[in-house]
Amino acid sequence: MAKLNMKNCAHCHKIFLSVLGENVCPECRAYEMTLEEDVKEYVRDHPGVTVRQLIDETGAPDRLIWRMIRQGAFENASGLEVQYPCGRCGKMITKGAYCDECAVKLKMEAKKFADAMKMRTRAAEKGATIRGGSSKTYSNTMYNEIDDAKN
Ligand SMILES: [Zn+2]
Ligand SMILES: [Zn+2]
Repeated sequence: MAKLNMKNCAHCHKIFLSVLGENVCPECRAYEMTLEEDVKEYVRDHPGVTVRQLIDETGAPDRLIWRMIRQGAFENASGLEVQYPCGRCGKMITKGAYCDECAVKLKMEAKKFADAMKMRTRAAEKGATIRGGSSKTYSNTMYNEIDDAKN
């Protein structure tokens, strides 16, 4: 039986049916999409704009702009640069979520974290007959984020 997943929209708090696990209702999602278009258009017209300016000029929430940055929305457009502070040290960067140094440090930290997780998983699996399946841990997400930051 399909599980109906009712959620409160993160924006307007209306209750809606979350089919794919989304956090906002279809109306707010549509609104976000128009905002995304506005943001993209603004970046297209104002190369080198900062995130602060983007937020002020387009009225888009920074949460939305950060998501677009993480998804690489501004990297496909050739010759355009969006400047924003590194999520860790605050240095101005134009790609990914972190500056190069922080990306390296975070990768090292993520590796340590992943090793620790592996050890824990191994310990937990002692005596268990089935392996695998549980390898999708938080560390995978971290790696993806770091890959994004590198590119
Ligand atoms: Zn809504
Ligand atoms: Zn940094």
